[in-house]
Amino acid sequence: MARRPSKHLRPARPLSTSLSRAEAKRDGEWVVQPLVGGRSVKDYHCPGCNKTIPAGAAHLVVWPRTPHVGASSAVDDRRHWHSTCWNRRG
Ligand SMILES: [Zn+2]
Repeated sequence: MARRPSKHLRPARPLSTSLSRAEAKRDGEWVVQPLVGGRSVKDYHCPGCNKTIPAGAAHLVVWPRTPHVGASSAVDDRRHWHSTCWNRRG
């Protein structure tokens, strides 16, 4: 039986930039971009539960749609959240 390459079985990887969405929370509007597991290479601190998001774990990157006064760009305000912690947030 011939061994066939399994390249067709690989799941398609969507462009991460196309996944971001805007969400309105009680303190304003936020841009939320899911980070697929395996993409992150370092640990992050989740402000929702004060715990660590281990490297390689799927989570959300969140930043304000409008940068706060004094920020050079909204990217400076990026936070990493567990998706469950973010969803619990009002
Ligand atoms: Zn958390």
